[in-house]
Amino acid sequence: MNDTITLPTAPKTKRMPSKTLSENGVDFIDEDVLNGHLNVELGNDPVRLREIIDKSQSKTPLSLSETAFLLKTDRPELVEEIFTAARQLKRDVYGRRIVLFAPLYVGNRCINDCSYCSFRRSNPDATRRTLSEQELKHQVSSLLDEGHKRLIMVYGEHTNYDADYIAETVRQAYTVQKGLDSIRRININAAPLDKEGFKKVHDAGIGTYQIFMETYHHETYNKVHPTNTRKGDYLYRLDALNRAYEAGCDDVGIGALFGLYDWRFEVMGLVKHALFLQEKYGCGPHTISFPRLRPASGAETESEYAVNDYDFKRLVAILRLAVPYTGMILTAREPAELRKEILEFGVSQIDAGSKIEIGGYTEISSAQTMERGQFELGDHRSLDMVVGDLLEQGDIPSFCTACYRVGRTGEQFMEFAIPGFIEKFCTPNALLSLTEYLHDHACPETLKHGQKLIEKELETIENKVLRRKLIDWVDRIETSKERDFYL
Ligand code: SAM
Ligand code: SF4
Repeated sequence: MNDTITLPTAPKTKRMPSKTLSENGVDFIDEDVLNGHLNVELGNDPVRLREIIDKSQSKTPLSLSETAFLLKTDRPELVEEIFTAARQLKRDVYGRRIVLFAPLYVGNRCINDCSYCSFRRSNPDATRRTLSEQELKHQVSSLLDEGHKRLIMVYGEHTNYDADYIAETVRQAYTVQKGLDSIRRININAAPLDKEGFKKVHDAGIGTYQIFMETYHHETYNKVHPTNTRKGDYLYRLDALNRAYEAGCDDVGIGALFGLYDWRFEVMGLVKHALFLQEKYGCGPHTISFPRLRPASGAETESEYAVNDYDFKRLVAILRLAVPYTGMILTAREPAELRKEILEFGVSQIDAGSKIEIGGYTEISSAQTMERGQFELGDHRSLDMVVGDLLEQGDIPSFCTACYRVGRTGEQFMEFAIPGFIEKFCTPNALLSLTEYLHDHACPETLKHGQKLIEKELETIENKVLRRKLIDWVDRIETSKERDFYL
């Protein structure tokens, strides 16, 4: 009954766009090369390890062989040095800001049959549903009530969810106003589009277009994505972000679903992908995601390649060192305690208060319903609890969307490469957006902790003019209805 699409742009008989590749549409994942590095590098040499760590601390991206060396290093005391280096890089370079967002699942119809996903077409137990315009707005409204400012909208792959539809739903989500609040940045995670399609979603004002390769290993890719399905075309998916760049969408996110194949190989694939985009388009991916396979209804998620917590920490720390200019996203697939620990390795964004059932922000109050969600979540904390926990750990929860809105693309790159950028823009904007959250949405205890942190942070701002301006803006947020200050 809820599966009606009320948008005029989504007739149900549409065809999928043709699969035309980009100008750089080649399979750049040469397994012999990646395995060659993994086979040659033995790891565990403390002298070379420290040289590589020094290189990463000087903000230089690592090569494939250096990444392979880190991946092959498994002596516990040397792995500890990798952890320490990732923590150090995070502390010295990125500071303590963690950007918060929420996923918004729009529809779970899907023509594909990915073995690991409960939205797969062969899953008879999945409750299929697409949000109507009104339902979509209701979800957004509820997310605004919680205090969210950034969303990632998620779609299955289906003729109903073509580029026009995605663009339209993004526009609609942006229009929702709740008092003075509206969503300020919408990223999307959806099937690969053709160039025309990428232009359309770009024009709708999306932030990042995120698409995961799932596995860079060809044989595994073909095994988990049947070849008679649209997603079964490895090269078309690998080429997706090339088409995005060529269509003018240069804010993109890559990712691998860890647990499908050997985690070391997948890290090599991610690093190769990032290097390829950087080389061809002069700009690497904005974010890297590293979801771990979770149990999912009607899906096959038992795997000989399941990644344990220790190796998961290793891979996050190694990615941090290997791709320093890239934001890293850690999702609520992981349990709260592990998330807290892994944040220290240089994660820049996390989701909070996430509901992944379609309609979940208004319709299901507590336990997740497996038939309606894509997989099982590991962290069920509310946004306010996550904000409270971050404050307790000394992190600065941020809802900042400034760079995107003033057209400063590649913010992660700028944070990293431009001296003083973090002090001048990122920290002030994080504090301003946090002040808004605290006053409009937080519980009294979170408010108290947050105010203390903001006061302390303001004191540390050396530029007096900037400090005075921020104190004035914080005061205006606290005492008036004025909102949305940013630099
Ligand atoms: N249909 C689009 C696609 O396949 O690109 C959108 C993606 S899907 C709704 C979002 C991501 O969830 C997938 O790319 C996959 O990596 C991840 N995912 C699917 N099943 C999962 C599972 N069982 N555990 C963890 N992540 C999963
Ligand atoms: Fe469909 Fe995406 Fe799930 Fe595959 S991962 S079944 S394409 S929603």
